[in-house]
Amino acid sequence: MPKLALQISAQLTNVQKLRPATDDAALMMRVKCSSCHEEHKKEVSFSPLDEVDVQGGKGKANFVMSCQFCKRPASANFETPTAKAPLYQPYDGPDFATLCVLEFRGMEPVGFVFEHTTWRAVSEAGAAFAELEFEDGEWTDYDEKGGCEVSVMEVEARWVRA
Ligand SMILES: [Zn+2]
Repeated sequence: MPKLALQISAQLTNVQKLRPATDDAALMMRVKCSSCHEEHKKEVSFSPLDEVDVQGGKGKANFVMSCQFCKRPASANFETPTAKAPLYQPYDGPDFATLCVLEFRGMEPVGFVFEHTTWRAVSEAGAAFAELEFEDGEWTDYDEKGGCEVSVMEVEARWVRA
């Protein structure tokens, strides 16, 4: 079953360590069925702390669904974090880098929605921005500690084999 890394890229100005605000933050993505390749009509959202029963008594997963077309079951799990590989790896830009790794069964991600998640970051001057939200892929604020503008622009995401 494919393990896929969610990689992000962004233009960071006077800010670093971008990551979801909390470990239970939900990520929203567009997904398709691995069997019939139909894209799920709605974006799906789930968090590392969600636990739901997998059909047929096959344990628990962070997310389960059935394909709307072929009805096959699908599920997804965040990779269990370790000391070396935390749940979310803070992003320092500017190139694509892995944010987190998920394992998909019967489904594949085809997109990611930054605007659904609350993020956090730290300014170069050390000020914490604990709850930031993107609007049309952009976020800007003013860092009083550093006396400068801080921003995250041109966010992009991609999925690659982990
Ligand atoms: Zn299907």
